[in-house]
Amino acid sequence: MDVGSDHLLRVHQVHGASVVVQRTGQARAEHAEADVILSDDPSVVPSIQTADCVPLLIADSRTGSVAAAHAGWRGVSLRVPAVTVRALAEAFGSRPSDLVVAIGPAIGSCCYEVGTDVRSQFEAAGFPAPDLSRWFHSEPDQSPTNPPLNGLRNRTGHWFLDFWTAARDQLIEAGVPAGQVFAAELCTASHPDAFCSYRRDGSRSGCLAAAIRKFKA
Ligand SMILES: [Zn+2]
Repeated sequence: MDVGSDHLLRVHQVHGASVVVQRTGQARAEHAEADVILSDDPSVVPSIQTADCVPLLIADSRTGSVAAAHAGWRGVSLRVPAVTVRALAEAFGSRPSDLVVAIGPAIGSCCYEVGTDVRSQFEAAGFPAPDLSRWFHSEPDQSPTNPPLNGLRNRTGHWFLDFWTAARDQLIEAGVPAGQVFAAELCTASHPDAFCSYRRDGSRSGCLAAAIRKFKA
C-alpha cells in the first residue's frame, strides 16, 4: 500500500455502532467517536484497532468504496456487520451483492469465555434462538489450528462466543453473498507469537491494525 501513516484515518472507538462517512474532498473525520468508518476517498485509509474484537474490512467491487469496522461483543450484539452494509448502501449506493468482506483475526470460540450477562444482551437484542445456539457454545472449541487457552472448560453459566460465525451470519443476512465473506479463522488469544490479545495479556497486549482504502484507478 503506497500510503504513509499520515493517510491513516483513525477514530475514537467506543464499542458502539456509530458510523463516520469520509467523502472525497471533505475534511478528515479524525477523532470522531465511531466504530465504523466508510470512505470513497482514495487518499484516506480508514483504519481500526483491535486486540480480540472483530476487525471487518469491506470493499465494494463496483464503486470501489470501502469500510473498516470494529466489533467486540457489544458491537456484534448491536449488529455492526449489518449496520456497515446498510451504511455503505445509504452513503455510496453500494449493493450488498457487490461487497467483498474480510473478517480478520479475532478471539475464537476456543478461548472467548463469556458470562450469561453477555448472552442475555444478545437475547435482549432480539436474535432468534437458532442464531444464539450457533454463536454461543457450551464448551471451548478444540481445534489444532487454534488451541484453547490453558484451563478453559465447560462451566455452568459460561459460554464460548463464536464471533466469526456471528459476523458471517449477520453479513449474509444483510445480503452479502456467502462466497464473498472471507474469515481468517485465526484466534488472537491462541497465537501469542502472531497476534495481540487483551483476554490473554490484559492492558499490555497492544493492538492489531486493520486498514483499507479505495483503489485509485
Ligand atoms: Zn483461541
